[in-house]
Amino acid sequence: MARVYAIANQKGGVGKTTTAINLGAALAEQGCRVLVVDFDPQANATSGLGRNPHQEAPSIYEALLDQVPLEAVIVPLALPRLALAPAALRLAGAEVELVGLLAREQRLRRILRPVLGAYDYVLIDCPPSLGLLTVNALTAADGILIPVQCEYLALEGLGQLIRTIDLIRDNLNPSLRIVGLVLTMFDARTNLAQQVVDEVRRHFGALVFETVIPRTVRLSEAPSFGQPILQYDAHSRGAQAYRSLAGELLARDRGREGGTA
Ligand code: ADP
Ligand code: MG
Repeated sequence: MARVYAIANQKGGVGKTTTAINLGAALAEQGCRVLVVDFDPQANATSGLGRNPHQEAPSIYEALLDQVPLEAVIVPLALPRLALAPAALRLAGAEVELVGLLAREQRLRRILRPVLGAYDYVLIDCPPSLGLLTVNALTAADGILIPVQCEYLALEGLGQLIRTIDLIRDNLNPSLRIVGLVLTMFDARTNLAQQVVDEVRRHFGALVFETVIPRTVRLSEAPSFGQPILQYDAHSRGAQAYRSLAGELLARDRGREGGTA
């Protein structure tokens, strides 16, 4: 059964989508079967993986509203073992349309269930808010991965995110855990970036992944070619960083398995 991880932080522009795409690709490269679920109405993961978010084909939106099974919206990608449940811009309406529905927080969890056997990892790319879509993602997830940008005020908003996680745990998903914090867009030329790394590590200790994702132009270019960095520039620093992150995640997950065996 797949491990389901939500990639969430209500701040925009911190590297959620970049991490969903490239961690997904790196896990697939290591032999895992990976489904990336684009759960942001901006559909950046969809376009970043080379799919058109303006198309009429069924998307995660139709699956969420029970118009089609999730299986019918999943598309394979150029990288073996990597698949996408695309978003469409109309997903923005779901935030309101879900409100009147029964078990509105649990719709994503329910539609994912039938496909979990086909994957090792499901990565949910969340929108930059703590609205109903993110609540659905956190209710469906075994864990949350939190990208943190190595910038001024990096920790701002994390308190609110942690409180939301606690609320979801208490009310909707008792097994939700923080898988880890991922430091992103690290610029070695600035003192500030190193100060942020130190501060986040001081606060969150071992929850922070050792791997730090560097700020690189190649990583920001890859989405406009519709490719993960592992495909666009397989030997770049960005690609190596996401491989290293995937390795750490796999080690953590194996450690958990070992612990319960
Ligand atoms: P979010 O999904 O949290 O809004 P994105 O992953 O879309 O954040 O990243 C925001 C912007 O920063 C995008 O234009 C993306 O290409 C760019 N970006 C993300 N990570 C990096 C990085 N490590 N180096 C350079 N640019 C990055
Ligand atoms: Mg995004």
